[in-house]
Amino acid sequence: MSQNILVLPGDGIGPEIVAEAVKVLDVLQADYGLDIELTEGSIGGAGYDAAGHPYPDETKLLARKADAILLGAVGGYEYDKLPREVRPERGLLAIRSDLDLFSNLRPAILTEELADASSLKPEIVAGLDIMIVRELTGGIYFGKPRGIRTLDNGEREGYNTLVYRESEVERIARSAFDIAMKRGKRVCSVDKANVLEVSELWREVVETVAEDYPQVELSHMYVDNAAMQLVKDPKQFDVIVTKNMFGDILSDAAAMLTGSIGMLPSASLNAKGIGMYEPIHGSAPDIAGQGIANPLATIMSVSMMLRYSLDKVELADKVDAAVKSVLQQGLRTADIYVEGTEQVGTAAMGDAVVAALKN
Ligand code: NAD
Repeated sequence: MSQNILVLPGDGIGPEIVAEAVKVLDVLQADYGLDIELTEGSIGGAGYDAAGHPYPDETKLLARKADAILLGAVGGYEYDKLPREVRPERGLLAIRSDLDLFSNLRPAILTEELADASSLKPEIVAGLDIMIVRELTGGIYFGKPRGIRTLDNGEREGYNTLVYRESEVERIARSAFDIAMKRGKRVCSVDKANVLEVSELWREVVETVAEDYPQVELSHMYVDNAAMQLVKDPKQFDVIVTKNMFGDILSDAAAMLTGSIGMLPSASLNAKGIGMYEPIHGSAPDIAGQGIANPLATIMSVSMMLRYSLDKVELADKVDAAVKSVLQQGLRTADIYVEGTEQVGTAAMGDAVVAALKN
């Protein structure tokens, strides 16, 4: 039976980069027997324009039926003045929580071809391949009580609550160990157990889960040290698993090790393996409509979709190899251009990946 893929182009460069990823899916269907059906929906600003909400009901129905979702990006200057509850970014939070996408996988990969793009020395980052597994639906971003209150003396006080249940830690830890089994079989759990009770419990639960994965080597690191180690010696890591807020910060630092925001895909999965796949960058309104955005992060999001939701590891490897091959040919979009390479636009880059896939 065909698998159902919902395509949500979103705003800004979203439609341009998603179009290139769809070309890749088309080739996989035509030439490699991938049995999928694509449906398109609106989200973010596009959802607001179409239906008055960044996560319209129609999109919600499609999302709940999908086996996987491919998303471009959301956001744009024209929506900045809207009430907070209908801003484009709310659409993303809504779909994540609607589908319970608790496990956010953010790889930081730096192929040899792009080692010069990093601000770190090539020998420190060339060949980097880390996977950060960030808990996405719990922790301090969602904990209650939260708010801003006025104290008796008239001073205002902001407060949030960091809270994790055992079951929430257990499922994100399992997600990380499962992924480590498909990679280098090492998990580093990042916490702040020297200060936070939540982290103490987190560590305990992660250790219990580890007993089910005897082949995986588990280590623990405090988050401040992890931030340091990421810029000092990032290649020491295989899989990092951490809470929502720590993951938010560490994964951006890890992404920047690679020097090119246009190259990094991500996945957000739920317990059934249904996932939403998207580039880590935003809608880049500054370059939207110019045909110069880098589509490779979105194309590599397709590769993650094949690997983690559609169980088509060989096809995922083929897409990754096609991306590597266009980089080896010296093709670069403007964001990763260096002297001596050939600058191409969004569509030409997508076409080159498609051509490499056909070879
Ligand atoms: P951004 O990631 O959109 O852009 C940052 C810089 O990187 C810009 O100079 C942009 O041109 C460049 N860039 C990003 N993606 C690129 C690509 N594929 N190719 C070439 N260059 C690329 O971040 P921002 O400027 O802070 O935010 C712009 C909008 O995107 C805002 O509305 C923000 O809320 C939204 N946003 C959305 C998401 C998402 O959809 N997941 C994530 C972050 C930001």
